Amino acid sequence: MTDASVTSVAWLNLDANLDMPLTCQRCLTAVDVPTHIQRSYRFVESESQAELEDDESEEDLLVISRDFDLAALIEDEVLMDLPVVPRHDVCPVPVKLAAADLDFEANPAKPNPFAALSVLKAKPSGDA
Ligand SMILES: [Zn+2]
Repeated sequence: MTDASVTSVAWLNLDANLDMPLTCQRCLTAVDVPTHIQRSYRFVESESQAELEDDESEEDLLVISRDFDLAALIEDEVLMDLPVVPRHDVCPVPVKLAAADLDFEANPAKPNPFAALSVLKAKPSGDA
C-alpha cells in the first residue's frame, strides 16, 4: 500500500548574520550594516508544483535541482535585505547640514544593490 502523504520533504533553513560594508548616505563614509536573514524554504519536485503550492504555503518554495545554487540564493536574499538608504545611527564625522540635505531626505537616491555586491566580490579575502 502506498500512501501519497508519506513523502520525504526537504527543507532548507537559512540563518545568516553578516555586516554589509556600505556607504553611509548622510556622511558618505563607510558603514557596516548588520544584516540578519532568517528564512525557511521547502523543496518541491518541479516548477509547476511550486506554482501550485505557492499561494497557500507560508514558506518559500524551491525547486529541487542538481545544480541548485545556494550561494545565489543567499546573494538574492542579501540584496533584498539591503537598506535603500544605508546610514550610520550616529555618523562618526560631522555632517554638513544644508538645504541640499533636506532635498536629499525627501528624495533618497536608491543605491544600486548590485554595485554594493560587486564591492564585496572584488574585496580580496585577506587585507593586503
Ligand atoms: Zn554616516
